[in-house]
Amino acid sequence: MIITNKFNVPAPLVTLASKEYYSKGESSYSVTEIMAPPKIKRLREQYNDKIESDVADMLWSMLGSALHVVMERGETPGFLSEERLFAEVDGITISGAIDLQQETDNGVVIIDYKFTSAWAVMQEKKEWEEQLNIYKWLVENVKKKKVVGLQICALVRDFSRHETKEGYPNAPIHMVDIPMWDAVFTEGFIKGRLDMHREAKMAQDFGEELQDCSPTERWMTETKYAVKRDGRKTAIRVLDDKEEARILADKEKGYVEVRPGEPKRCTGNFCGVAQWCKQYQGEINE
Ligand code: SF4
Repeated sequence: MIITNKFNVPAPLVTLASKEYYSKGESSYSVTEIMAPPKIKRLREQYNDKIESDVADMLWSMLGSALHVVMERGETPGFLSEERLFAEVDGITISGAIDLQQETDNGVVIIDYKFTSAWAVMQEKKEWEEQLNIYKWLVENVKKKKVVGLQICALVRDFSRHETKEGYPNAPIHMVDIPMWDAVFTEGFIKGRLDMHREAKMAQDFGEELQDCSPTERWMTETKYAVKRDGRKTAIRVLDDKEEARILADKEKGYVEVRPGEPKRCTGNFCGVAQWCKQYQGEINE
């Protein structure tokens, strides 16, 4: 990856951004890679020497790395920081680096730190559930210890004390309990993900098309229907349901403006490979 410095920030920040703190050790797949869409992983590997990222856009990932270093200094009896576990699944070595393990009388509680937004804390985050349950599977299988809890320690970067929305975190550090899966289900999940990655790699090696990213993987927002009337700047209402919008438009003697859903991961190039992705580029050119 090429690190640029478009905003002329001090050189040590560029050095920090260039040093990849995160390592997957000797494994073929880290937990994060297992969960990533196979198409993104394949394209990122293929175009690794062309992908550009500006140091200013890497603020939160740098702070994430800094947090790991700081946490190593906060050694506390009964807590184990930063342990990387390895396991073999169907002949493939996988690994996961666990931020924190709390030893209790009943078993281990796994805790993962996340710099995140208040909005993210208020949503159901499937990827947090997947990640922590793979960690649970690793602890149970490699360390032969019972896991009794999974938690995200959310460091809410845009926290406001004045916000009163339901479900809004009540402090800038907010603990989120994550549902636990049973080991059989998790192992099936890991194997399924590895199969998808293996198939994508084979397709790439044979010059075949990669399987498309799904709407969820593309962070697709929902299509909305704005009821509008000539002579009025703003919409009367914006609805999720087309038929409901049509009925309201008839009543208001207006019309319906369709606001199509947007694949945010593609349009914002959050995958880093949008310019080489045939799926997305094909849609833009249509
Ligand atoms: S541009 Fe969109 S569809 Fe293409 S790899 Fe990225 S997320 Fe997937």
